[in-house]
Amino acid sequence: MSAELPVEIVRSARRKRTVEAQIINGTIRVHVPARMKQSEVDRYTAELVARLQRAEASDRIDLVSRSTVLARRYKLPLPKSIRFVDNQKSQWGSCTPATGEIRLSSRLTQFPSWVLDYVIVHELAHLIEFHHNAKFTALVDQYPKAERARGFLIGVHYAPDSEDVVDNGAVAVDNGAVDVEIDSGSDEADYRPTLF
Ligand SMILES: [Zn+2]
Repeated sequence: MSAELPVEIVRSARRKRTVEAQIINGTIRVHVPARMKQSEVDRYTAELVARLQRAEASDRIDLVSRSTVLARRYKLPLPKSIRFVDNQKSQWGSCTPATGEIRLSSRLTQFPSWVLDYVIVHELAHLIEFHHNAKFTALVDQYPKAERARGFLIGVHYAPDSEDVVDNGAVAVDNGAVDVEIDSGSDEADYRPTLF
């Protein structure tokens, strides 16, 4: 959707550090600091438009029913919660076995559904086996397209992100803290594109 929506840039003298976007009456309105360079405006606008698209795609995908179907099919446990997060930069998914929580990168919404399903199966398998060992691989490889999905994810070009994401959905222009969606002190099972 958002790709076709017109984008309107609003420069604001009061705005010092943040860039923000919202959809108003079918237009993506991007608020930027008055003195920001056009090249910066273009860069942040592209990022925010992409983020709005991911948010919209995330809303359309019913992760609970999807994970329920996959858990039944491959005899894996059901998660206590499963949701998309928009701030996982280096992980496709993560699982906290102690709490049964699964988080998936909203970037997965841009990929074919069989890739998303693979990552769900991968994280569900972590509810049984924490480590990427032979037992774990056997669980995940029940999914027929596991090998293909791993190849797909390895092949995805992961452009380095230079902006920092803050909680309210705005993009901080300066070096703010990166909010990483990881419960501190929990047992985290995660995987990165390079770790297959
Ligand atoms: Zn893993």
